[in-house]
Amino acid sequence: MSKIRGILIGRMQPVHNGHMQVIEQILEEVDEVIIGIGSVQMSHELKDPFTAGERIVMMSQALAERDIDPSRYYIIPMQDINFNAVWVAYIKMLTPPFSIVYSGNPLVKQLFAEEGYEVRQPPLFDRLHLSGTEVRHRILNGENWKDLVPKATVDLINEINGEKRIYNLSQKEISDI
Ligand code: NAD
Repeated sequence: MSKIRGILIGRMQPVHNGHMQVIEQILEEVDEVIIGIGSVQMSHELKDPFTAGERIVMMSQALAERDIDPSRYYIIPMQDINFNAVWVAYIKMLTPPFSIVYSGNPLVKQLFAEEGYEVRQPPLFDRLHLSGTEVRHRILNGENWKDLVPKATVDLINEINGEKRIYNLSQKEISDI
């Protein structure tokens, strides 16, 4: 029998506990999940501080931490393209066949729905605190961010001195002030 696959695409800047809870939920509904790491061309910006490679490490280690069977997921890096109207075809080219799209992102939901995919909105897990924006905000302000993310994300951010990177990115040149 063919496998039922679902897909979740996110910038994962950084991977946080909300992403991991959604992935566990998806795996209760489908045989395999495709995890798209989006906007891979972006890094070293306040909204997108981490490279694609760094986000892949966070995700693969976080899945291992949760003892998720590696035969049940694919982690696929995805560059943004300028053409929303053909984005779904581009994603299809990069991924194993899938039938269900999981997303809370209105543009992602719209583009896949227009191409006839079943789109499911995952329940929001503590969205007030579990968002990349909140994690980046807390890192920048020296507040407690480590409770919001898997240990894998903490380890990777420590390894690359990521707190310092985000702080440095927030500084303006004297000439800009
Ligand atoms: P994200 O990391 O913010 O979120 C990823 C997914 O996790 C979303 O579906 C979101 O709803 C879900 N999620 C996040 N926190 C959650 C929580 N606490 N509880 C439950 N679910 C939660 O990423 P995003 O911004 O949705 O990523 C979309 C990606 O698709 C981006 O990289 C974007 O650039 C890309 N994209 C590209 C094109 C193009 O290239 N033309 C078009 C559309 C989208």
